[in-house]
Amino acid sequence: MTLQTPLARVLGPKTAGSMAEQLDLHTVRDLLRHYPRRYARRGEMARLDDLQVGDRVTVLAQVKSVETRRMRQRRGSLTEVTVSDGGSTLKLVFFNHRHAHLGPGEWGLFAGTVGQYRDRLQLTHPDMHLLRGDGDDDDWARALVPIYPASKDVSSWVIQKSVKLLLGAGGGLGDLVVDPLPEEIRARHGLLPLAAALLDIHRPTTSEDIERAERRLKWDEALTLQLTLAARRRAAALEPGVARPRRPGGLLDAVDAALPFALTEGQREVGEELAGELDRDQPMHRLLQGEVGSGKTVVALRAMAQVVDAGGQAALLAPTEVLAAQHARGIRELLGPLGRAGELDGDPEGTRVVLLTGSLKAAARRQALAEVAEGRAGIVVGTHALLQEAVEFADLGLVVVDEQHRFGVEQRDALRAKGTRPPHVLVMTATPIPRTVAMTVYGDLETSTLRQLPSGRGGVSSSVVPAAEKPAWLDRAWARLREEVAAGRQAYVVCPRIGDVSGPDDQPEDADGAPEENPGSDRRPPLAVLDVAELLRAGPLAGLRLDVLHGRMTPEEKDAAMRAFATGETQVLVATTVVEVGVDVPNATVMVVMDADRFGVSQLHQLRGRVARGKHAGLCLLVSEAPTSSPTGLRLASVAATSDGFELARLDLETRREGDVLGAAQSGRRSGIRLLSLLEDEELIAEARAVATALLATERGLADHPGLAAEVAALATDERAEYLEKA
Ligand code: ADP
Ligand code: MG
Repeated sequence: MTLQTPLARVLGPKTAGSMAEQLDLHTVRDLLRHYPRRYARRGEMARLDDLQVGDRVTVLAQVKSVETRRMRQRRGSLTEVTVSDGGSTLKLVFFNHRHAHLGPGEWGLFAGTVGQYRDRLQLTHPDMHLLRGDGDDDDWARALVPIYPASKDVSSWVIQKSVKLLLGAGGGLGDLVVDPLPEEIRARHGLLPLAAALLDIHRPTTSEDIERAERRLKWDEALTLQLTLAARRRAAALEPGVARPRRPGGLLDAVDAALPFALTEGQREVGEELAGELDRDQPMHRLLQGEVGSGKTVVALRAMAQVVDAGGQAALLAPTEVLAAQHARGIRELLGPLGRAGELDGDPEGTRVVLLTGSLKAAARRQALAEVAEGRAGIVVGTHALLQEAVEFADLGLVVVDEQHRFGVEQRDALRAKGTRPPHVLVMTATPIPRTVAMTVYGDLETSTLRQLPSGRGGVSSSVVPAAEKPAWLDRAWARLREEVAAGRQAYVVCPRIGDVSGPDDQPEDADGAPEENPGSDRRPPLAVLDVAELLRAGPLAGLRLDVLHGRMTPEEKDAAMRAFATGETQVLVATTVVEVGVDVPNATVMVVMDADRFGVSQLHQLRGRVARGKHAGLCLLVSEAPTSSPTGLRLASVAATSDGFELARLDLETRREGDVLGAAQSGRRSGIRLLSLLEDEELIAEARAVATALLATERGLADHPGLAAEVAALATDERAEYLEKA
């Protein structure tokens, strides 16, 4: 057996099949890396208190009483087993004498979906595994029982048994697992050998075992990630780019003269920073973070203008067609004749602004590609379509990626590869990034921050509308919206889903920010744009000019809808999260988010940024049926109470899985991150970063550490595989 051995050969096809299908576990290595979610300890647990209806749970508890009686309405009998964790109790319900023989005092693991009957929580027909300590079952003598992330057909104890098989097989883990970490580093940082850590994480005797094992395994995760990033930084540093110095009297000066406002101090400072870096032949790799509405676009545009003035081309990569079109439109307007070189009314000293998206018709596309390839287009704005092979630049000098969280590192690299020499890169994000995340996800970038919003902004005030508890508040919300529209303003109504076609393929349009849901919970489907629009037209917003915008519309339809909203023709836009990213209509002042609990914290913050764009104060109403005192209700309340994006980013980190934070292309297992917490392991990440940098700074790099090199290669392969799957 090796780490690559398929599980089917060790566990048999049935168990392995379920593990592959339901838990994405395929090889011995996968299973060894499937760590317990937590450890149950007999007699000292308060887990039963935390249970919520709909949760799929595994609990360790002791039988208190067993009662069997005939059912009144139906034939047959009902057995009610009351179990306790020492504090609270939980009822287990079985029909027809199953488990009627359970004896008080017995310990067991019980797994099922939490239900409710007359105010009491219960598990109906739970799977169970009694801890009798007989025969080969020495597991149950242990103080700490691992509870694994389980699935419908693969219970926690099946996983435990399977892992035990691996741990015991082939003369122990020592032969199976080769420790990639150099002895010297291990000793210096006081880390367990890998085999010991794996053994302890799955079968700990004490909580210190768990802690030491976790530390070692987290270290591996952090080091592999940091080595990958350090390698990227080094590779980038080795290849010189092209300096793009400022040239007075060109496009940049024209942009500055045309701006209808004065730059904020922050914009000026960051602008200087960028101008200086563009002037060097070491390619710039910079992350520009700034609150929604802090004016990042202008900063980027000025950098782009400088590059065009120096004879190069600049590409702006946007996450959606709506946004790409808006950027292109805005830039063309600002440049005027200087953006129309070659046209009758164009300025021959200027350049051309080209929009390149997937929906261009063949002829338009051909023309756009030619203008880009021949260098006539100095400024190229587009979506993912820019990454395609057919897109060639004459001299790509700067790549700007707007709203980075939608793009993976590979996509950034794909665009970067289009320069003959590596272009400068500017990445912009409105989701503020805690330091640890900056050190990991964005580990190959320097960071600048725009903290200040342009003055004269009205700001947004947010409130939660608890639709279930206080239905009258929802009426009041629509009344507020009507008041704003009557005063000449406009409004968004955002829903999590598009609607119309019901069924499994009507997924939430953008679930990537949504918090993890409990599998097995059956909540009603999220509200849909098309349904809500109809209800509003017929009821609370009758008579207003209302339109819809969502991802299933054609690009022309989307563009038309956006334009109608931008000109004020549409008063209320009912939309999915397509309005989340960067859409800019200063006259819009109200946003009502339906089913707000279905969105992630950062996503809500982004969304409401859409109504703080002008001089009027914005209002954001978060409508949710979640009880105000539930964790979800409290999360919404803190979004409403906080306007500090950094604080919300932290809250977001706490409520989301780490994988989500790492971004689409690096999420989940593929990122190799299972235990590492970006929030809690700051120190460990910093240590690993230092070690990674030092290792790679030596002449031989990883040549003397084949184990580490293999880990890094494996991560790269996984990342690439993920990327290909997405493409
Ligand atoms: P974001 O940082 O969210 O991308 P934008 O670049 O879209 O923000 O800018 C938001 C709005 O603020 C735009 O309408 C833009 O024209 C305006 N803006 C940018 N800078 C300033 C400034 N210095 N003063 C006034 N308005 C500004
Ligand atoms: Mg923006």
